Amino acid sequence: MSKERPPLPLGVADEVLYRNEHTCCICHAPRKHVQTHHIDGNPSNNKIANLAVVCLDCHSLVTGAHGLGRQYGPGEVRRYKKTWEQIVLYRRRAYKPPTRTVQRELIGQIDVIICQILATSDHKRRREMLEILLNLHLWRGTPQIDRQIIAGFGHLAFMSGMDLPRLAKELAAKSWEMCWQFIGPHEVKLDASDVKLVAGCADVVETLAHFNCMMQQDLAVLKAALNTAENLFDVGRWYRREVIAAAVLKIYQGALEACQTGKQVEFPSGKRALANSAKAVLSKLRRSGLKWPKINRELHAITYRQTS
Ligand SMILES: [Zn+2]
Repeated sequence: MSKERPPLPLGVADEVLYRNEHTCCICHAPRKHVQTHHIDGNPSNNKIANLAVVCLDCHSLVTGAHGLGRQYGPGEVRRYKKTWEQIVLYRRRAYKPPTRTVQRELIGQIDVIICQILATSDHKRRREMLEILLNLHLWRGTPQIDRQIIAGFGHLAFMSGMDLPRLAKELAAKSWEMCWQFIGPHEVKLDASDVKLVAGCADVVETLAHFNCMMQQDLAVLKAALNTAENLFDVGRWYRREVIAAAVLKIYQGALEACQTGKQVEFPSGKRALANSAKAVLSKLRRSGLKWPKINRELHAITYRQTS
């Protein structure tokens, strides 16, 4: 039954294990024996993106039969892999901040890249340049550099919210990727400049969602923005930072306002998507036991009272 299994090239195995710090990407338990798992179930697909490092216990939860319990699906494993590799990267880069001269140079480059993203109409090129900015954040990010990237994103959010839906969707996703190393206080600390980074990403998404609802009314763009909003709200909840939750709340309020002129709803499907997303966020907030009365009240208003 089992498919032919070509050996994993040594260089690929080394690279994957190094990127994962030889540690299981699901449970992160230190110094356990690990294996490389083919996420898509195809043993000859030895691309790094298809290989997850898992310990023997987690591997059996990924591949074995579990009666009524659900096993880890490929999408889930991919997410664990991505998140864990980002954490490893983040920890490593934290040791080597760039010098002041390098930093000044990088800040100048960020502006140039933002201008290039707007100047080209080649979507693939745009995506590559957004990826470069993300890598700058991951490898060389300092509060100054991150601020500059977020300012650039804000500019792109305005322009793409108006009439560049593909860029807008990409930007919504990248705004989350800027923050996804914050997966919980037990894993990664969040200091004051990190809080500003997360809130800054929420502001980017607010601009994007607002102008999208007002001008393009593209439901896919709004959903991408709401997906990021929900993730950023999770970060606020995990770290118990109301200021992050408040920044996310503004995404909902700004977009809702832009869906209508006076009492006339101009973008009904957008309004429904906003209500559904706010409902999901609200129910997680209630289950978390955090108080945050103002945020609770406002989310409730978006979910119920204003839904027509
Ligand atoms: Zn494990």
